Amino acid sequence: MAFSLELLKGNVKIEDCTPLLDDPKYQEKYLKLKDLLKSEEGKKKELKINIENELCDGCGICVTICPVNARYCYSILSGKAPDYPPDTHQLFMVKEGKCELLNIKYCRRLETEGKERECRVCETYCPREALKIEYI
Ligand code: SF4
Ligand code: SF4
Repeated sequence: MAFSLELLKGNVKIEDCTPLLDDPKYQEKYLKLKDLLKSEEGKKKELKINIENELCDGCGICVTICPVNARYCYSILSGKAPDYPPDTHQLFMVKEGKCELLNIKYCRRLETEGKERECRVCETYCPREALKIEYI
């Protein structure tokens, strides 16, 4: 998983995975991956969280479910709407019926506190598929 994330970000190439090259049983998978990535392989990508305004209905699920929001915003931890003004760590809040990305800096997918995590809960739990994690 860690390797695939690095592959997606362009920090490594498929050939850096030695078992994939050394073992003939993975040949087909290797070729599939090459075909999938094509010219995108090795291109440096940045994390983006894209919120489709048209689809978002401001339900606030992403606000309460993001572990960073929950950790730094005590009102969320106690089951209430987040405080305003938001804590500097807070990633999302709902304003005028739409979700707004305040700050991506502390997203767990970026390296914080010495490690990065494969978090995807905001995207997974958005009921309207309005929120997408992308590497562009
Ligand atoms: S990926 Fe995880 S940490 Fe990052 S914004 Fe989504 S829920 Fe929060
Ligand atoms: S969970 Fe989805 S629909 Fe709900 S506020 Fe967040 S982005 Fe909007």
